[in-house]
Amino acid sequence: MAYIDEMQNSEAITLLLGATLREIHLAEGTGQLRAITLADYKTSRTINVQTCILACGGLETTRIMLLLAQSYPSVSQRWASTLGRFYMGHISGKIADLVLRDPRTIAELDFFVDGDHFARRRFTLQKDTLRNEQLLNIAFWADNPPFHDAKHRNGLLSAVWLLLAIPFIGRRLLSEGVRVSHVGPSPFQIAGHLSNLVKSPFSVIWSAMQLLRDRYLCSPRKPGFIIRNNAGRYALHYHAEQLPTESSFVSLATDKDSLGVQRLVVDFNYCELDATSVVRAHDILDRSLREANVGYLEYRTSRDALVSSVMAQASDGFHQLGTTRMSKDANSGVVDENCKVHGLDNLFLLSSSVFPSSGQANPTFQIVAFAFRLASYLTAQFDRTQSSVQHFDRQIGSVRCE
Ligand SMILES: Cc1cc2nc3c(=O)[nH]c(=O)nc-3n(C[C@H](O)[C@H](O)[C@H](O)COP(=O)(O)OP(=O)(O)OC[C@H]3O[C@@H](n4cnc5c(N)ncnc54)[C@H](O)[C@@H]3O)c2cc1C
Repeated sequence: MAYIDEMQNSEAITLLLGATLREIHLAEGTGQLRAITLADYKTSRTINVQTCILACGGLETTRIMLLLAQSYPSVSQRWASTLGRFYMGHISGKIADLVLRDPRTIAELDFFVDGDHFARRRFTLQKDTLRNEQLLNIAFWADNPPFHDAKHRNGLLSAVWLLLAIPFIGRRLLSEGVRVSHVGPSPFQIAGHLSNLVKSPFSVIWSAMQLLRDRYLCSPRKPGFIIRNNAGRYALHYHAEQLPTESSFVSLATDKDSLGVQRLVVDFNYCELDATSVVRAHDILDRSLREANVGYLEYRTSRDALVSSVMAQASDGFHQLGTTRMSKDANSGVVDENCKVHGLDNLFLLSSSVFPSSGQANPTFQIVAFAFRLASYLTAQFDRTQSSVQHFDRQIGSVRCE
């Protein structure tokens, strides 16, 4: 934890590790949250709170709100119809190859050091184009062909695939969701990968050593790699916005977790408009590349099969957006523009679940932006009620979960 020292040395913060929020209690009829129940597998404790910010991640924040809505239907009745609905992530995959007229152009699209970190360029569409063409936001970047498909005939990609396919090693290299997406579906092409490896073992070992050095021994650490080729042909990765639709949602299950709290059921769905937007954006990028004489796109399937190819690759779960959406009024969302739950004066949600739309990427940046805005909103409020702040600190400071 990057800020553990600051937290330990702060007199204003009491950090309760291992304490899971299990329940929220409202003061009936007042529009106020009164207390929360924290628990671990041995004990539970209910404490009074003056203000509560739920920052439990996209799905867990929503689960807690679903439990609250279930316990207090009169408080939640106006926003209950949107709570859990409009679950969005992103839509991502590869349906085309990018062919560069001058293979050296890849240097412009590869990772480069920018100050004290690595960066890489992406293709995006201009705002006016998105608006005029009524497209969802999207970004593209040059990428390696899928590791799992041994037809790439590249020994280094096969070596990386073999490492990732061994869970014990792969989980140390990448987060599990990303590892699984690189390993791809079974049946695995193990013979094909081994054959790629033995064709040029020395160059594979040399390239693998360089890759490991760049990723683990250098500073800044290189977050990924592109294997350059003389044909100037690369996979084109897209990462796009997903429309909010009611048919993509989460709800409470009947079975319970080890703390006796109902689990969440996830029913995550894309719609065809998500996919058609992705295909049309490819067409626009292709046109621009040709007009600028930089290159062109070559689709991997027939035109008729493009939308279904996008749909077949569509999966997420990494980014958990939209299930407690922000809105002006309680009939169309759960929180207002300050992340305050409609109808409750002292409950705030700080999570990507408040996003009403998904954009094309990087929810964490926006969560942090909301955190700053909420902090200044609450600071202004607490400055006006100084005595309450002291009371709040005393209450929290006296609690310990064992
Ligand atoms: C594989 C992967 C790749 C990603 N890549 C990117 C990326 O490139 N860019 C990007 O912007 N985002 C990325 N994300 C998304 C990013 O991780 C999230 O947006 C971000 O972590 C959300 O931060 P958060 O603090 O809201 O929630 P979290 O990071 O989920 O933190 C929530 C915390 O609350 C705790 N908690 C949950 N429930 C309870 C409870 N009931 N009681 C007490 N504590 C609780 C959890 O233990 C956790 O510590 C990625 C996610 C994954 C899984």
